[in-house]
Amino acid sequence: MRWTQLFIPTLREDPAEAELVSHKLLMRAGYIRKVAAGVYNYLPLMLMVLNKISQIVREEMNRQGAIEMLMPVLVPAELWQESGRWQSFGKELMKMKDRHEHDLILGGTHEEVVTDIVRKTVKSYRQLPLILYQIQNKFRDEIRPRFGLMRGREFIMKDAYSFDRDEAGHKISYQKMVDAYYQIFKRCGLDSIKVESDTGAMGGRMAHEFMVIVDTDGGEDVLLLCDKCDYATNLEMATSIAEEIPQDSHEKPMEVVDTPNAGTVEEVTAYLGVKPTHLVKTLLYKADNDYIAALIRGDRELNETKLKNYLHAITLDICDGVTVAQLTNAPVGFAGPVGLSGVKVVADTEVMKMKNFVVGANQRDKHIVNANVHRDFHVDAVVDIRNAAEGETCPACNKGRLYSRRGIEVGNTFNLGTKYSGSMNAGYLDENGQEKTIIMGSYGVGITRTAQAAVEKFNDDKGIIWPRSIAPFDVIIEPLNFEDKAQQEAALELYDKCAKTNIKALLDDRNERAGVKLNDADLIGVPLRLTIGAKSLKEGKIEFKARSSPEVHLIDQTQAVWTAEEVLAKL
Ligand SMILES: [Zn+2]
Repeated sequence: MRWTQLFIPTLREDPAEAELVSHKLLMRAGYIRKVAAGVYNYLPLMLMVLNKISQIVREEMNRQGAIEMLMPVLVPAELWQESGRWQSFGKELMKMKDRHEHDLILGGTHEEVVTDIVRKTVKSYRQLPLILYQIQNKFRDEIRPRFGLMRGREFIMKDAYSFDRDEAGHKISYQKMVDAYYQIFKRCGLDSIKVESDTGAMGGRMAHEFMVIVDTDGGEDVLLLCDKCDYATNLEMATSIAEEIPQDSHEKPMEVVDTPNAGTVEEVTAYLGVKPTHLVKTLLYKADNDYIAALIRGDRELNETKLKNYLHAITLDICDGVTVAQLTNAPVGFAGPVGLSGVKVVADTEVMKMKNFVVGANQRDKHIVNANVHRDFHVDAVVDIRNAAEGETCPACNKGRLYSRRGIEVGNTFNLGTKYSGSMNAGYLDENGQEKTIIMGSYGVGITRTAQAAVEKFNDDKGIIWPRSIAPFDVIIEPLNFEDKAQQEAALELYDKCAKTNIKALLDDRNERAGVKLNDADLIGVPLRLTIGAKSLKEGKIEFKARSSPEVHLIDQTQAVWTAEEVLAKL
């Protein structure tokens, strides 16, 4: 294609609203434009990339026997009421009403719709297993859409659903999708790792996420991995074996002490001259309609996913200052479990091993020293609610050390068990005519997310560096002066030759300054550049440069396309 016949509105400056390098580059290089918060236009170059990713996804899904279809975006609320997710999904569910005041949703995931089709069509074990999938725009009412296509309100997903006779069958389907996913991301030029994850709003029994390791701000998820075995998990789910802190042998008398203006762990421990490992933080939460006091060691971070899962809560929000004051009669920073009423006390397992520790006294500027569980306060539940930390011992092999990486989630897989088939009555008759419930799985790939993850991973200060497999073009042909007859002829000749091979070429036929053209070529990230300049052309040479390398080679004009083919085959 010719540049002048495309729509590539590049920008000179970084857009102010973009935080991530990938978001900035996609805007600057003319791939996307914002319509509203979390809603984007995919401009022509972006559409080419998305189509390439979609095609890879399709080929790998089809290879595993999955069958493509297309479900509606608009879904009646009744189906979600039947599964129970109308209530339980939370505020991310994009709800709307039609003119008859009927509740509808804009689908963010399609377990209900696909289960409804299957229950109406599958009757016999002979029709199973079945894997259906679609590639479609999805919706999510994000509280704070950001990071470009990473946390959008509308995005493109591949979602697949497996239906099996039993767990053994499900295992096979699940593995097929896992195999497809490794292949998909590899073909997109992205190494992915599979980590255990929370089942979240999808429910079900077990889940994995596919992560692209990106140690930049774009890596939204923190992962913990073992240096000795293949334990790999999202921090949300990670457990670990931590070193125990030596404790006093006897319980000392509890005492209320002054801690003027000391509300944070750092301030209190500095004032009292104790270590954070001898303090217990009391964090107040509202879980649905109940108040919870979560107790955790002073040096630890509370893991809200673990707490939420233990409580089976739909919403979990930290209490604001007003609520804290109502519950404790003290400002934030002085809450403690002693004498606290009207809340459920959930203690982290480590707290139960501590003796003579510091807690808030539920009075302004006061803390309690030498507090002890059971003797001084009651605990309703003991649960692992802390974040595992780097350097701790792996819970799987008991030998390795955990280390952390940051990643972008590009895919996920869920064993749903009978969560939907049970509540929505999707069954079949087995060989003996017995009624059985179908075992389901669901599997997502973020198409738009994968594209942005590739940009977050592959870029430099000049722009994007696309992996060849998902680049909008293979080659950009850059005549430095397109008005010049000899350069124009050479460029058109190259362009025609590319068209006769499998090379997808973009011809920069703009009458722009050479500097502008070369900068734009780097910015949009096409893997190879063939530059035609007046001087080298006189010697029958053109400049050959890969976007990923600083090296420039002068090659024979007649060899250019052949060389491009050779190099592209290796990219
Ligand atoms: Zn291990």
